[in-house]
Amino acid sequence: MKYAIETFDLIKKYGDFLAVDKLNLKVKDKSIFGFLGPNGAGKTTTIKMLTCLIQPSSGTAKVSEYDIVEDPNEVRQKIGMVPQLVSLYGDLTARENAELCADYYGLPKDLKEERIDELMELVDIKYAQNKLVRQLSGGQKQKVSVVASLVHQPEILFLDEPTIGLDPTTKSVLWDLIQELNHEGRTIILCSHDMYEVDMLCDHVGIIDKGLLAAYDTPQGLKDDILENQDKKTGLNISQIMRDLEENSNVNNISSFQKLKGSMIESEKANAREISVKIDNMCAPIMEELEKLPFIFEIAPTKSGRISIKIVNSADAVTAVLNTIIKCQGSISSISTKDPSLEDVFMKVTTKHEVEGE
Ligand code: ATP
Repeated sequence: MKYAIETFDLIKKYGDFLAVDKLNLKVKDKSIFGFLGPNGAGKTTTIKMLTCLIQPSSGTAKVSEYDIVEDPNEVRQKIGMVPQLVSLYGDLTARENAELCADYYGLPKDLKEERIDELMELVDIKYAQNKLVRQLSGGQKQKVSVVASLVHQPEILFLDEPTIGLDPTTKSVLWDLIQELNHEGRTIILCSHDMYEVDMLCDHVGIIDKGLLAAYDTPQGLKDDILENQDKKTGLNISQIMRDLEENSNVNNISSFQKLKGSMIESEKANAREISVKIDNMCAPIMEELEKLPFIFEIAPTKSGRISIKIVNSADAVTAVLNTIIKCQGSISSISTKDPSLEDVFMKVTTKHEVEGE
């Protein structure tokens, strides 16, 4: 498989402080890679090394198959960068800034003008091309920055929080642009704290924490991992509980389950999972059967005619609830579960890492 980026034990120290710690990361060619991490985790430092703005303390990386230490000039030809803080010349116009970038890459005049026109139209900033950058709004500056970074048609584009502070419409224009650039065959490295943005755009995600790679997978893979871990984590054997409950249901002896509810389950409450079910023929017997289930913490009808159920966080518990409703001849017309989001993954991974690092 071809990788756009491959790092090899990449380390950056500032004095004694280890900002990036033996990072080994692979970014697939022509993919959109989300690079996440808490504030101060080492994302910008990594990006600065990969874009040859700073040198690694040790280790190295290949960017578009060129070594960042040995061939920085070749790397610079292959990459474009939209930095966290827009770095444009305030006393030059939007167009002059883009032209300066094109000149840096040695683009012939005709090609330079053609590309700048094309890109300015694409991000909708041509109307402001003759304004001084210092007179532009934050979003307008960001668009000029994107034009300047793309003028030499880089293979790999680094975007460090490109949509921060942008209004929803401008954000959406940039998201479309990122996807379009990717469809054209460019690899995109996206640093962002916007989990919706990352989830929607990225093929793969790496989460860095305290300079170390704490997680790497597809967004869905990371979310599935949390679900699987949660399912494994519960100390309850839901299938056994259901069997016991069935055996005891004739004599209505549920005291042992109530005891279970009061003690063992207490530890599971913090990780409770919520599901909401719409039962068309909802009636008292269904509710009574559900209330018997010892792994349910809360059950309540909602204003919209659904029932909201808080249960032990396990797929088996969800199945048991649904089986109970079906056994009572309940007709389920809709189910929704609050499955983990990328934000949950982020918090879990970075918190876990903190505990491990103690
Ligand atoms: P954020 O999400 O807040 O932008 P980040 O993940 O990009 O954070 P970095 O900017 O890479 O984080 O910083 C990583 C660590 O390195 C931080 O603790 C920061 O204080 C430190 N650091 C960054 N640049 C320098 C520098 N020039 N000198 C000393 N320490 C630095």
